[in-house]
Amino acid sequence: MRKNMVAGNWKMNTTPAQGLELAQAVAAGRKGVSKDTVVVVAPPFTHLSEVVKATKGHGVAVAAQNCAAEAKGAYTGEVSAEMIASLGVEYVILGHSERRQYYGETSEVLAKKMAQALANRLTPIFCVGESLGEREDGRHEAVVGEQLEVLLSLSAEDFGRVVVAYEPVWAIGTGRTATAEQAQDMHAFIRGRLKAKFGHGDCTILYGGSANPANAHELFGKPDVDGGLIGGASLKAADFLAVAGSF
Ligand code: PEP
Repeated sequence: MRKNMVAGNWKMNTTPAQGLELAQAVAAGRKGVSKDTVVVVAPPFTHLSEVVKATKGHGVAVAAQNCAAEAKGAYTGEVSAEMIASLGVEYVILGHSERRQYYGETSEVLAKKMAQALANRLTPIFCVGESLGEREDGRHEAVVGEQLEVLLSLSAEDFGRVVVAYEPVWAIGTGRTATAEQAQDMHAFIRGRLKAKFGHGDCTILYGGSANPANAHELFGKPDVDGGLIGGASLKAADFLAVAGSF
């Protein structure tokens, strides 16, 4: 089902104490944001338990930024979807471009992570997006179309539980936001692909890439943009809440 949503990706920022403070500030300010908007924060693994406790009952859901591709066992340093879900976490970001780029996450690995997330009742926020070179070569639709294959192999029921985030790599952390028109075009393209496969494009699709309080309203005003995955601007509660209030 399509919903208005903002999700804050804290990446590898904040100590647990700082993260708790940020989560408490988001929880306190959430009442100023429409109840119809889903508000999610994605702290590092080390903070998940405390952030779940701090946000419980305040209308703020919690996401992990990644999960393991395997269920359990000898995978030193990995954190399973079951472990994450057992903390009361509801979402997991999968396929973020930083994971694809720095940790070599392929569609094959992401399909396994997707299966783990879904089997453990986590809602995946599945990220897709092209690099600057790919856009300049006019290959953005081809690249994103290929990344979407992970979703196109899901059952209709599982697809119904997924959130998509379109995040052009050239806009992430660069201050260079996609224009609202570029975002709309790609969201419409993604929705079209999903519709062709599942018979409906009724899926929440977020935009990510230097979204902030100054540009969120224009982005969120586009018909196929259902909200944002917010990096830098999610590290200040006031900015994140302002983005959440930009529908
Ligand atoms: C992100 O990392 O998902 C992101 C969108 O980052 P930023 O908002 O900082 O560009």
